[in-house]
Amino acid sequence: MAQNLAIPSRLCLAPGPSPVPFRVRQAMANPVIGHLDPAFLAIVDAVQQDLRDVFGTANRVTLPVSGTGSAGMEMSLTNFVEPGDTVVVIRQGVFGQRMAEAAEKLGAQVVAVDIPWGQICSLEELSRVLAAHPQVRLVAVVMAETSTGVYQPLDGWAERIHAAGALFLVDTVTALGGIPVEVDRQGFDIVFSGTQKCLSAPPGLAPFTVNERALERLSRRQHPVPSWYLDLLQIREYWGNARLYHHTAPISMIYGLKEALTIIQEEGLTARYRRHRQVAESLWAGLEAMGLELMVPRTHRLTTVTTVKIPDGIEDRVVRQRLLNEAGIEIAGGLGQWAGKIWRIGVMGEGADISHMMRLLVELRRILH
Ligand code: PLP
Repeated sequence: MAQNLAIPSRLCLAPGPSPVPFRVRQAMANPVIGHLDPAFLAIVDAVQQDLRDVFGTANRVTLPVSGTGSAGMEMSLTNFVEPGDTVVVIRQGVFGQRMAEAAEKLGAQVVAVDIPWGQICSLEELSRVLAAHPQVRLVAVVMAETSTGVYQPLDGWAERIHAAGALFLVDTVTALGGIPVEVDRQGFDIVFSGTQKCLSAPPGLAPFTVNERALERLSRRQHPVPSWYLDLLQIREYWGNARLYHHTAPISMIYGLKEALTIIQEEGLTARYRRHRQVAESLWAGLEAMGLELMVPRTHRLTTVTTVKIPDGIEDRVVRQRLLNEAGIEIAGGLGQWAGKIWRIGVMGEGADISHMMRLLVELRRILH
């Protein structure tokens, strides 16, 4: 253990970072070897295959981007959006908004579809937008909106998006490893995630996968990719067979991700999704029994993030500070238009544990009553 870091004991129940298992932290403490060492490249191969399994894809180009979830988002947009492209972004929370801003910075004509917070975008609404914008090149949506706690159903979307001649980009940051993400079956073309949520590894890598349809679009770009670091044409030369140096792979992070993915394999995806659901349902029952109101109807409520209305007369910050200082438990406040109005509780990866939720409920009750 490092002697100069006084890290307090915490139960991380905010929507990321989630608690990181000891095995993952131990994996990261292994000696650093070279990123072109055959022993490390074998780990790279294994991580890529494990990521394909958790993404539900056979995509050749599947890799962890060096950077947090937002780097995965920029990788997804920077390589597949060109200046002047019409890009539809479903804006139903902070992370949809972030994608709209990032696409605008790339010179896209962004068509933002504003959905009231807490609600979903219907298939009919998607069809209406596609019909109104026949030149659309890409549609971007967040599957699990961390700022609202909404699960966006996406079945039937790919058929409509592909029929319109567009690519389908999905943010699965708060979904991957906690709720089903079936990239090939659901017809997603470009998908990114983050390690610090339901995968229960530290923040720092962004799992990413892309299919041949999208790669074909990339090969026909009119303009060069406007980023050196996130140029997929270069990066895939390291993550593909050539193993050419582009940037130094973050060795220790990849050790940690490998261990996190091994833990997921040991549990099995189906059992893992069931655990997230069961723990979330117990949390909801406990919160409602305390008289608290949940923000999202059950029909499209995420199991991985629960959003709770702060009761009238209760100070958001005071409660969260007391939870942290008196019980060592972290939950999060609201973002954007829900700042000060809600709390957000992560039920993610290692954090999706009934005993953690009971501890939170007991402490929250003590502070509120
Ligand atoms: N997308 C969603 C849905 C998120 O919840 C987050 C982070 O919370 C991001 C993107 C950005 O990820 P990061 O903060 O790791 O850059």
